[in-house]
Amino acid sequence: MTAQPTANQPFAALSPESIRRFAESIAGEIILPDDQRYQKARRVWNHAVDKHPAMIARCANADDVRCAIEFARDAELLIAVRSGGHSFAGYGVCDGGIVIDLSLIKLATIDPVHQRITIGGGVAAVVLDCLAQAFKMAVPLGSCMTIGVSGYALGGGESSLTPKFGYGCDRIRRVEVVTADGRVLSARDGENDDLFWAMRGAGANFGVATALEFRLHPIEKVLSGHLRYPIRQARKVLRFLDEYTRSISDDLFIIAAVLPHPGERMLDVAVVWPDEEKKDERALRPLRKFLKPFEDTVQTRDYLDEQRAGSDSPADGDYSSVSVGRGLLRRDAPTLYRKSVCKRPRR
Ligand SMILES: Cc1cc2nc3c(=O)[nH]c(=O)nc-3n(C[C@H](O)[C@H](O)[C@H](O)COP(=O)(O)OP(=O)(O)OC[C@H]3O[C@@H](n4cnc5c(N)ncnc54)[C@H](O)[C@@H]3O)c2cc1C
Repeated sequence: MTAQPTANQPFAALSPESIRRFAESIAGEIILPDDQRYQKARRVWNHAVDKHPAMIARCANADDVRCAIEFARDAELLIAVRSGGHSFAGYGVCDGGIVIDLSLIKLATIDPVHQRITIGGGVAAVVLDCLAQAFKMAVPLGSCMTIGVSGYALGGGESSLTPKFGYGCDRIRRVEVVTADGRVLSARDGENDDLFWAMRGAGANFGVATALEFRLHPIEKVLSGHLRYPIRQARKVLRFLDEYTRSISDDLFIIAAVLPHPGERMLDVAVVWPDEEKKDERALRPLRKFLKPFEDTVQTRDYLDEQRAGSDSPADGDYSSVSVGRGLLRRDAPTLYRKSVCKRPRR
């Protein structure tokens, strides 16, 4: 599709009659370019992405999604699917096509006895976290509370709980999927196995997930916080981490990032340990003592407070980070150091 929609004519192939029929067939709503909400509704998290869809269909349920897919197929429109809109690449919007916006599909139900939670395709991470934490449980979710859970988990989903509980996609028990040919399928172990396998990691390519069921894990407190060092000490700290990470529990999540700091930049070492017992504090002691950071915020806190501390974006967008895995630093320490510390990332 190459033509651009305009306020009066959303897209050449769309007749007003077909648009009206589609709008009347769904429980949700449509937004066209002449709607005053259009400019806001077409925006995604990455503001560098500036695309103009012919239509945004805010679907309220799986049947709406099916209707939107059929409508797009009949009109030969491109489709972009959007949950939380946080794709860095801006996959939640397209030029000249239809955005299937799931943000109205917000239902979330929890079964604390069987440790399960089911969410709609438009549920944000903050909602799942708050609901699960009401029962002192969690699904491994990322560091940004406004992310769509489905976009996060269907693409893998790395969390500070991943070392202990796995990736977001590992915790999916069942998915309700609307496929490109308009079928609404359930996929889980023993039911549409291939689809279930594919949805957990490459889900965005196989259909629209309108509901996801996750396994929950009990968790209430974590030992977590940040150790912050002047940038000139980064090499020393990274070399220490190389040795240290080989001696500690696999459950520890640790990530080193170069972040903005007034006047220069700093090395930020973030740790999250899902078990907050005294022995873990002892295990963290060598890291906290070997070189005094200018800031040490590590303490036992509620898991939800740790999640809330995650931000939507770094203050000025000047950000680069490297995950610290066992053995990774030893192999690549000088490279990582050069990449993440010496070479200023492009804005
Ligand atoms: C500030 C920030 C912090 C982040 N932190 C983390 C992190 O800690 N861990 C991590 O793993 N990732 C992280 N990410 C990456 C994030 O998880 C991915 O960009 C994810 O795809 C965003 O999901 P979304 O639903 O918000 O985005 P969207 O743009 O809505 O969707 C992203 C992709 O998934 C598809 N999709 C979304 N929902 C569905 C659905 N229901 N059915 C089928 N396809 C769907 C979309 O079509 C698109 O291709 C972060 C991103 C940002 C911007």
